[in-house]
Amino acid sequence: MVVILDGKRLRNKILEGLKFEVECFDKKPSLAVILVGNDTASQIYVNSKKKTAEGLGIESKVYTYPDDVLEDTILEKIKELNEDSTVNAILVQLPLPEHINKQKVINAIAPEKDVDCFTLENTGKLFAGLEPNAYPCTPQGVLFLLDEYGINLDGKHVVVIGRSNLVGRPMGQMALMRNATVTICHSHTKNLESITKTADVLISAVGEVLIEDDMMKDDCVVIDVGISRGENGKIRGDVNFETVSKKVAYISPVPGGVGPMTIASLMVNTVKLYKEQIKRSL
Ligand code: NAP
Repeated sequence: MVVILDGKRLRNKILEGLKFEVECFDKKPSLAVILVGNDTASQIYVNSKKKTAEGLGIESKVYTYPDDVLEDTILEKIKELNEDSTVNAILVQLPLPEHINKQKVINAIAPEKDVDCFTLENTGKLFAGLEPNAYPCTPQGVLFLLDEYGINLDGKHVVVIGRSNLVGRPMGQMALMRNATVTICHSHTKNLESITKTADVLISAVGEVLIEDDMMKDDCVVIDVGISRGENGKIRGDVNFETVSKKVAYISPVPGGVGPMTIASLMVNTVKLYKEQIKRSL
């Protein structure tokens, strides 16, 4: 019988614990989010982050800019937020418009306020096997989910599909730090199926439906990070849930799997950065 990895349930459990913790703080933690342009998906994500944060007693400030905003305006805002001691965590919602140098903008965030492990200092630490100020939200959320269900990665073959800096790459590195044997696949990978069939844990972060039930072992753990919209407008993952869930040991659904874990992870990181900043100021 397949086990559905329930991200909503775990998110609620994590948020409940955080709410209690935040209630005990003298002052509220604060998360600042920068949103550029009017991408509907980004607006939905940012609203959901704000709502979740406020529900926990975390102050959430969203700075919204039009599509044609100057790069310097964003850089100045980040500088201001870096210097503002009442702001503990900063997130730049991606994607950014093409005329903005994404790397320059995200690297302007002070590493100690870098809530999604975007800056070169924090990614450098992560890829050196050291602890960054905060681990990247989505891969960390995936690990929270695996931990909750007692799925240990030590010695397992973890196949990650996708190599973005946001998900695939850090996911592979964090699985490696858990002593997994890791293979990262991408759009140039040949014979994808021959690799996925050897996976103990298959993590897909692509954004199109490409995982079918003949691509994995029966006892595989399948984690679906992907989000896209079907012709009916409904949200779907990379995995054909209908068929794959009849075959494998564990599977995360879309929606209700990794998505809620990413938000939970963002809240965990905001509180972590807050506590570290308080500790440093003592
Ligand atoms: P991305 O930057 O577009 O990366 C997609 C990756 O998929 C790339 O590495 C690409 O390879 C690879 N790819 C594309 N087609 C492929 C194919 N046919 N076979 C194998 N690999 C293929 O996207 P992302 O930011 O990593 O996000 C990935 C997905 O996760 C998206 O659907 C996104 O919406 C979703 N997401 C979900 C959450 C969540 O909380 N659930 C959070 C973040 C992202 P190349 O590098 O060779 O181009």
